[in-house]
Amino acid sequence: MAKDYDVIIVGAGPAGLMAAKTAGENGLKAALLERKIDIADIKRACSMMVVTLTGKYLGERVFLNTRDRRICFPRYGFSVQYDGPHQDFYTWSIYSHKGNKVQLGDYGQNVKKGEAGRISAVYSKGALLQGLLDEACSNHVDIYPGYNVIGCMKEGGSVTVMTREGRSFKGTFVIGADGRSSKLARTLGLNRDRKYFGTATTLGYEMAGVEPPEKYALFQIFLNETPPMRIWMTPRAGRDEHFAMVTSLHPGRDHAAAFKRVTSEGHFAPWFKKAEVKRTLPAVGNMLSHIVDPYKDQVLLVSDAVWCQEAEMTGAVVSGWKAANAVTFALVEGKISREGVAGYLDWWRDEVIKQYDYKDMIGNAVMPYMLNPDEIDFLLGSIKKTLPGMLDPYETPKLVGGALAEIMPMVQKERPEIFQKLGRMRTTPLEVVFGSCMRAGFPTLSLS
Ligand SMILES: Cc1cc2nc3c(=O)[nH]c(=O)nc-3n(C[C@H](O)[C@H](O)[C@H](O)COP(=O)(O)OP(=O)(O)OC[C@H]3O[C@@H](n4cnc5c(N)ncnc54)[C@H](O)[C@@H]3O)c2cc1C
Repeated sequence: MAKDYDVIIVGAGPAGLMAAKTAGENGLKAALLERKIDIADIKRACSMMVVTLTGKYLGERVFLNTRDRRICFPRYGFSVQYDGPHQDFYTWSIYSHKGNKVQLGDYGQNVKKGEAGRISAVYSKGALLQGLLDEACSNHVDIYPGYNVIGCMKEGGSVTVMTREGRSFKGTFVIGADGRSSKLARTLGLNRDRKYFGTATTLGYEMAGVEPPEKYALFQIFLNETPPMRIWMTPRAGRDEHFAMVTSLHPGRDHAAAFKRVTSEGHFAPWFKKAEVKRTLPAVGNMLSHIVDPYKDQVLLVSDAVWCQEAEMTGAVVSGWKAANAVTFALVEGKISREGVAGYLDWWRDEVIKQYDYKDMIGNAVMPYMLNPDEIDFLLGSIKKTLPGMLDPYETPKLVGGALAEIMPMVQKERPEIFQKLGRMRTTPLEVVFGSCMRAGFPTLSLS
């Protein structure tokens, strides 16, 4: 049995590292357990977009301080070291498989404006994790890489965390930041009331030599595939490369075959004529509703472990920071209880659960389940104006929804069948829309 800690943090993603750094800065005796050996090595697909330099996700507008190499969260009042590259991007194009598109942000004009014209930027997640790790280490956090946590148990006034390697760690509080398939959420029984909508699988390609019409842009492409698949493509920061992710809600789909089809034939093939794949990265994650009450037995769960779908880097860092501060208050006040960590639980209830309906986030994936690729092509080709450029997982879909609403009289007249389907899109429960995904997916990843 290792020495006793004030707090044990499980998972060294952005949330866990931020919680560890903050606990260390506050003077707590903290330990961080992570199953990966190399904490800053990114093994899972990620677009690495900063959410967000525009819009206001969680009421926050992130700033990049390139002079002092920090990422700043002014609303919450903290910043983190970031010694990596970034690459601004200036437009977000949403394409049908035939090449019709809706554009958010005028690329030419925005490039001329420079930083003021960017929609947001991509960064290096590895550099972010390394910066947070360095800060946690310099604040005396004990780091334990290579430990896979299998559960925890409350004993008297403390919690014991057990690992597959046979070692256990004892702490007054535990912060569970073990991601989308959180073992802690499962073993504590906190997933029981969550709604499950499907399992998203992703295959990402890091590539050199891609030649899209705009170099520094976000592309979203609805593929001509049934069941539906999409591609998201972004530039990579600090490298002359792109990252293209093929995603599906049907785990049985062949992502590589779909990627081959779209890159070798049809509208997008010329973009990839000279492309060379450098590395592939997978990702798997369930689409679930939030955990409404993320506290049990002195364990506080944060970020993707409790979020609907995913917290994004911003939500991860903010929730890790909030949780570590709440635990610090509880220890200072001697309230080793739910009441002690109310600062985190109130924030979670009032500023996340009440403000962000999980149905809006999951609803972003509905369109290709209600409309076929040609119908999507018709709609995207009918929105002629350029929309404001913004990267915000909740606000941007509203901009596109508003543009669709403007063309509805025309759609009703020219394509009444699409008009009817769009009407049904608003009223059909998500469980019905995603019924086939739920049958094909792996709820046991998170729920059992
Ligand atoms: C395909 C894809 C694209 C994305 N693109 C973006 C983007 O462009 N911008 C953005 O901001 N966000 C993006 N995200 C979301 C973002 O990656 C997450 O929201 C964020 O990483 C959540 O941080 P976290 O610390 O909660 O979890 P994670 O980053 O998942 O970290 C959890 C950590 O816990 C460890 N762990 C898990 N289980 C155990 C265990 N039992 N014992 C010990 N350690 C354990 C894991 O190894 C991992 O290191 C994307 C996600 C996906 C899947």
